[in-house]
Amino acid sequence: MPTLQLRNYIDGRWVDSSTGETFDNIDPATGELIASVAKSSTADVDRAIEAARRALDGWRLFPAPKRGEILYRAGEIMLRRKDDLAREMTREMGKVLPEARGDVQEGIDMTYYMAGEGRRQFGDVVPAELPNKWAMSMRGPVGVVAAITPWNFPFAIPTWKIMPALVLGNAVVFKPASYTPMLAVRLVEILEEAGLPKGVLNLILGPGGELGDHLISHPAVDLISFTGSSDTGSHISEIGGRLLKRVSCELGGKNAIVVLEDADVDLSLDGIVWSAFGTSGQRCTAASRVIAQTGVAQGLIDKLVGRAKKLRLGSGLEPSTDVGPVVSASQLERVHAFIPVAEKEGATVAAGGHVGTEGALAKGFFHEPTVLIDVKPNMRVAQEEIFGPVTAVIEVSGIDEAIKVLNSTKYGLSCSVYTRNVNNAFRFMRDAETGLVYINAGTIGAEIQLPFGGTKSTGNGHREAGRAALDVYSEWKSIYVDYSGKLQRAQMDTTETAKTAP
Ligand code: NDP
Repeated sequence: MPTLQLRNYIDGRWVDSSTGETFDNIDPATGELIASVAKSSTADVDRAIEAARRALDGWRLFPAPKRGEILYRAGEIMLRRKDDLAREMTREMGKVLPEARGDVQEGIDMTYYMAGEGRRQFGDVVPAELPNKWAMSMRGPVGVVAAITPWNFPFAIPTWKIMPALVLGNAVVFKPASYTPMLAVRLVEILEEAGLPKGVLNLILGPGGELGDHLISHPAVDLISFTGSSDTGSHISEIGGRLLKRVSCELGGKNAIVVLEDADVDLSLDGIVWSAFGTSGQRCTAASRVIAQTGVAQGLIDKLVGRAKKLRLGSGLEPSTDVGPVVSASQLERVHAFIPVAEKEGATVAAGGHVGTEGALAKGFFHEPTVLIDVKPNMRVAQEEIFGPVTAVIEVSGIDEAIKVLNSTKYGLSCSVYTRNVNNAFRFMRDAETGLVYINAGTIGAEIQLPFGGTKSTGNGHREAGRAALDVYSEWKSIYVDYSGKLQRAQMDTTETAKTAP
């Protein structure tokens, strides 16, 4: 069978890289070649940005409800293709099929939500302080958006950026992660089929490290929307900041589940297993710390170790698989390198800790679900993002210490508490320094209609999803209409106004 070719999409055409160079797309469960992918050059990036710039005016002036209708049609196509998209996703990046379906569903939810914004995009009409004067605000597009996305949610995360950008009238250059070009191509194909005019959305495939600086520092790019690692986010922010571009970053996390002595411990176990090992721990919201109060700690560890050991590693396409591979050989190496680091600092491996080498596992990039105990809050495994199926249990004396430990990392994305005590729940909601807080649920499972993002080194103050996303992808314009027929001076003519009041 000929190898599948994945190409760039520039100005409404599917094209090879201008150099003809390609790179391989590999199935992480088997090591097999899936596709040959266009490796773009900076000249391709220039073409994509120029196409977006040309398309911007027409798209900006296209009525927003009509833009929303195109998104709505895209959502319908996604729904019809949900199963095929999920299968391709599992092959491309390894997550188990039910989770891949969830990823696609999240993309559908976001697409429908933003389609609705075609008829909302509310501004304010407020009273003016002077007579015969009108005051209102409205949103307009920012311009050309560079959307740079990671591989862990290869369908959902691109929709979080592209859908609000499009419905608000921006043009987009989309640079997906090099591990997941196939799902990026599928998303663009869907929007093309739904009727998006040429040039409004352009796709550039290829290595971020080489193309990235060119893309983000290009004078015709107005907004950089990035999700990925904190190191890359900081690099992008530095360049974007110097050029006074708007930069929105969603970065890493070191999320924790707190289990207090008044908790339903079995319920917390379900949340921990799902949040720590789901998507092989490769969610930015994954629970890579468990903070347990002394009275429940040992019982929780015993049960957690039992549950982790029972999880079955394998291809995400097999219905019997609980945990799929990690995305690549280098990611496997990175995750596994934390085990000796943890042991050297005094932690103990209570479950897992090995790379999967038996039978079919040897061909892919598998890491056993791992539970580390005897972990102290300042150890590297308690502070650094691991982004693999590894969780570290830390024991604390009570809620005060739990909150202190929870907030002691540089990240602030997600956290949860298991407690039956309403006072503890409300204290936790108030004092947790994270963008997402769950009560009696794990750290994963955000819904698209609320803001998504985090504090501290998890981002730079912006939020994706929900209404908050509109603020990233639009400029506010405040408009005053004076229909008095004379000069009126705001803040100065107030006594005058009072005198003429009826
Ligand atoms: P990276 O930061 O390595 O890459 C993210 C994206 O940026 C990829 O498309 C990558 O391209 C591109 N990129 C890399 N270098 C540059 C550059 N110099 N300029 C512009 N773009 C560049 O992250 P990963 O893909 O490895 O994703 C994993 C990380 O993302 C984790 O740390 C995780 O926590 C975080 N993440 C955060 C989320 C959040 O919402 N907070 C959500 C999901 C992930 P290429 O693939 O070609 O290298």
